[in-house]
Parts: sequence; structure tokens; C-alpha cells
Amino acid sequence: MSRSSPWSALKSLLQTHLPQDEFDLWFGSVEAQLSGDHLSLVVPSDVYADYIRDHHLSTIQQLASGVPGLAGGVTLQVGEDVPAPAATVSSRTPLNPRYAFDTFVPGPSNQFARAAALSVAENPGRAYNPLFLYGGSGLGKTHLLHAIGNAILARDPASRVRYVPTEQFVNELISCIRLQRMNEFRDSYRNTEVLLLDDIHIVAGKERTQEEFFHTFNALHEAGHQIVLTSDTPPVAIGGLEERLRSRFVWGLVADIQPPAFETKCAILLNKARLEGFELPNDVVLFIARRVRENIRELEGYLNRIIVYCTLTGQSPTLDTVRSALSSLLPDERHVTPAEIIRFVAHHYGVKVADLKGRDNRRSIAFPRQIAIYLIREILNLSYPEIGKVFNKHHSTIIYSVDAIAKERLSNPSLDATLTSFVENFR
Ligand code: ADP
Ligand code: MG
Repeated sequence: MSRSSPWSALKSLLQTHLPQDEFDLWFGSVEAQLSGDHLSLVVPSDVYADYIRDHHLSTIQQLASGVPGLAGGVTLQVGEDVPAPAATVSSRTPLNPRYAFDTFVPGPSNQFARAAALSVAENPGRAYNPLFLYGGSGLGKTHLLHAIGNAILARDPASRVRYVPTEQFVNELISCIRLQRMNEFRDSYRNTEVLLLDDIHIVAGKERTQEEFFHTFNALHEAGHQIVLTSDTPPVAIGGLEERLRSRFVWGLVADIQPPAFETKCAILLNKARLEGFELPNDVVLFIARRVRENIRELEGYLNRIIVYCTLTGQSPTLDTVRSALSSLLPDERHVTPAEIIRFVAHHYGVKVADLKGRDNRRSIAFPRQIAIYLIREILNLSYPEIGKVFNKHHSTIIYSVDAIAKERLSNPSLDATLTSFVENFR
């Protein structure tokens, strides 16, 4: 069926009426057959048909009455060969042995999170439960999560450690509900002694997942089993999160990872290069560290490129070689994102990214927030509603912020100079 078919129109309406995971769960693999103005939804099994009939059919009928071309109504039909997706509880994401505590370079920006991770690794289930690590992208959350698992397994290879990207948790849950294998799902998770759940913030707005995770959490916690969660924001800033989960996330210890200081970036770079058997001269280290703002993944990307370039051309990594190796990446091909601008502003004003995205309106936070909003508009030229989404704010607040800074800039030369240098920095 084409994109503009009545079914796709109905589907988008339905999507706005249901939580995302509920929609994916029941309508993700539904196919539709249109005969005249009648739509027949073909579902994989009776389980689907019963559930959809009981819970969603009246909504669907109602929505369909507003869709052109669907005057004949909607019915359900169980299809013979509509495949239901396979359950994946048995497929495991292995730990990466390179993500260990010895390869994690400590620095002021990460020492709190690192110390917390170390004590959980030494005393699983007893130190802090849960441990909740949060910080911006590419700052080492996944690395620390694997390091905990690796350390526990090194000491006790029989320990039931499980690393799960939250995305995978959601997919497994969906498959197991569909295939009526929820017991298997629950047993498999509740049997885990150390559950390392990465990027938990993606459960935002996924009600069914939150419900199930709530029970998993309680079962593990009551049994004294360790739970470690990572997120790109602190629990309070995860939108669409049930209160009972939010309160549990802060039961143990919440630790943040901040963007690395310049010295830490240099140390990480030297360390990675050495691990690859590669010596970098000091001026090259400084050159790269200065150009990478805060994302360590990006730092590694540059280093890898330099290594490949030097190996292929047989040159040694002098400053000149490195300049040409990176010339295509710096600065033209650099793709600036709102998140980078926010992190930059947070770093400059000594506030947290979460605060800039939060609701605290004291001037010490509201002012940098307005600066960040202004810069995103100025540098990326995003629309007001788009910026509103980034900050979880109404677009009128965004317009107000941009105007306020624009006005102040006109009358305040030092702010003007600062903003000019910020903008330069991203060009
Ligand atoms: P996140 O999960 O926070 O997005 P990752 O843990 O995936 O970030 O880290 C991105 C990359 O940076 C990984 O390759 C990781 O090994 C590396 N990295 C991050 N922090 C450090 C550190 N302190 N020392 C060494 N490598 C680090
Ligand atoms: Mg990660």
C-alpha cells in the first residue's frame, strides 16, 4: 500500500493516540487490505485479534470515520502467513573486554562515577543499589558499565552478569508479549545477578516497558541483586517516566560524568594511542585535544583516522601529517548539533547540561540556558518549535529567550564579544 493510503493515514492517527510501545507491540506487524472503502486489518494470531478488539477497536473505528476513503469501516482478520517476530531472550550482547577499569582514564570529570562503579564492582548488590550513571553522549557511561561486568566476571566467572542495551530490553519484551512468552522473559531477567542496563532514558513514554521493568527492578532489588543503569540525563530529567520508577532510580547512588577537562582529553588520547602501539608527539596531542570539544568517541575517531592515514602513507604522525589526515574533518565537515552547543555553554558557565534542559529559573541557570537557546538559533538556524523540543519548552519561551539575548547583546559589548567568539568556535 502506498504511503498516502487510508491505512497509513489511520496508522499515524492511531500512533498519536497510543503510547509508542503499545503501538509498536500491537500494530507494528499488522498489514491492511483495502477493498473499496472497507479496511481489513490482518493480524498474526488470535491473541492479537482478541487484544485489539478488546482494547483498541472502538478507537480505531472512531478514528477511521474521520479518514477519507474509509467510510466502510474497519474489521479484524487473522492472517495465515503474517509472521510474528521471534523472541530474542536468548540472544546476549557480550561484554567488550576493552572496556575495563584499567583502560578507563580517570580525571576530575569522571572520578565520582568511576569510584562508584569500582565499589559496585567490588561489592555487587551491597555498595549502592541501583547505581545510576548519567552524562552526555560519548563520555564513558557504556565503558564503565562494561568495566563493572568485566571486573565481576574476572573475580567470579560463574556470576550471572547481563549487559543489556535498553533498546534490546524493549524489543525482547515486545516479542515475548506477542508470543505469549512472558514467563520466559521474567525468568530470564529475574535470574540475573548483575543487571547492567544501558541508556535507560529511552523508556521515556513507553508505559508497558516501564511497568514490566518496575517489576523486574523490584524482584532483583529484593533479592539483593545489583542493578546499574545509565542515562543521558539524571532521573529527574527523564520525561514521561513513572514516578515510582523515578523514585527507585535514586534509591542507591546517582553519579554524573562531566565532559573531560583538557588534560584528561590529552591523557585519554595518549593512552589510546599507546594501546594501539602508536606514539604521538606532544604538539599533536595538544592539537587534537584542542579541536575535540568533549565527546571522547570523537577523540577516538580522530585518532583512528590518524593511525590509518600514517599506516597507509608510511608517514610518521607529525603535526603536518596530522593536519592533512584530519583536513577533511576539520572544521568544514564537522556537523554541529544542539547537544554540542548545550554542552559547550554548560561547560563555559560551569553548570550542568541537565540544568540547562531543566526547569530551574534562577538567573545563574536561566541566563546560560537563554544563551544556549540563542546560539542554537544563531548557529543552526533551527525553527522555534524544533528548539522547543530540545529544551522541552513551549516555542513562545524559545522566542522570548532569543529576543532577550539579542536585545542584551546590542547594549552589552562584552556579551557581544563573548557571543561572537562562541559562534566562531562552531564555524
Ligand atoms: P557513552 O556510553 O557515555 O556515550 P562510551 O562509554 O561509549 O560513551 O564512550 C565512548 C568512547 O570513549 C569509548 O570508546 C570509551 O572507551 C571511550 N572513553 C570514554 N571515557 C573514557 C576514559 N575516561 N578513558 C578512556 N576511554 C574513555
Ligand atoms: Mg553508551
